[in-house]
Amino acid sequence: MKNFDYAVAATPADAVRLVAERPGAAFVSGGTDLLNLMRDCAQTHDRLVDLNGLDLGGVALRGDVLRIGGLARMSDVARHPVVRTRFPVVSEALLASASPQIRNMAALGGNLLQRTRCGYFRDPGSACNKKVPGSGCPAITGENRGHAILGGTDQCIAVHPSDLGVSLRAVDAVIRTRGPRGERAIPFGEFQVPPGSTPERETVLEHGELITSIDLPFSALAGKSSYLKLRDRSSFEFAVVSVAAALELRGRTVKDVRLAFGGVATTSWRSTDAEAALRGKVLDAASIGGAADAAVRGAVPREHNGFKVELLRRAVTRALTDLGGVR
Ligand code: SF4
Repeated sequence: MKNFDYAVAATPADAVRLVAERPGAAFVSGGTDLLNLMRDCAQTHDRLVDLNGLDLGGVALRGDVLRIGGLARMSDVARHPVVRTRFPVVSEALLASASPQIRNMAALGGNLLQRTRCGYFRDPGSACNKKVPGSGCPAITGENRGHAILGGTDQCIAVHPSDLGVSLRAVDAVIRTRGPRGERAIPFGEFQVPPGSTPERETVLEHGELITSIDLPFSALAGKSSYLKLRDRSSFEFAVVSVAAALELRGRTVKDVRLAFGGVATTSWRSTDAEAALRGKVLDAASIGGAADAAVRGAVPREHNGFKVELLRRAVTRALTDLGGVR
């Protein structure tokens, strides 16, 4: 691991300045991903700015939103009574993530910024466009069982690993930040950047821009929501396929719906096509089947991950069937 300076931020403004003034600096809170990346030389920094003294944890009601601090720990948010009852998909996604020990350490902001689990990215000896732009993507023709079938390009097909991110797409969350140019609010659907030809850039954040909070708007949709995660083992494992679903029903008719997927895409993937296949329809096996088909339309499977197409179709079917109480 490369040597680095360590600084403790006293205020959010102090934290932003300490990172913004040095190109190789980074924020650290739980450090559950960052320190592994630095140890494996997948990411190097010459300064870490410790955020743990900042008052950016906690969960509070703010008018028509629930505001969660960017430094709130995953386990605290997962068991918060308002999150559990009004945003069950968020609580379930957090509880399905990592291990209890990591959930006790990891902050929500850091969870959204965790890097891909692509083995080539994490291997110091491998080429990778995300690590070194222009060096190539060995996953395209190599080991790609865990890679994306949606949103990939010939530059990168890495999956975004955050369960939380998938759940935030289903509840129309907004990310609030403070950076060198002031504060801003970013709808979560605009927060992540698909790989395109610049896979090294994963979010719209500027260098030195800090996630201060995450706003969850209260809605009927968010109140009837769930997270289904399919993985290779039952704990401490990343998703092979996951589905965040939120439903607002009028009788048996779908008034509104959100569907977002993890484990299959380069970002926390919302399928507006699958949602459109349900909106205004009676929720039954036929309409759910239409949504499941729409969910995988346009998928581009690779040599080792073709199974994800059918698995995603079935996961969407099960998530909607269970959430909607379809017999
Ligand atoms: Fe790197 Fe992306 Fe290719 Fe993985 S899929 S090797 S992260 S460029």
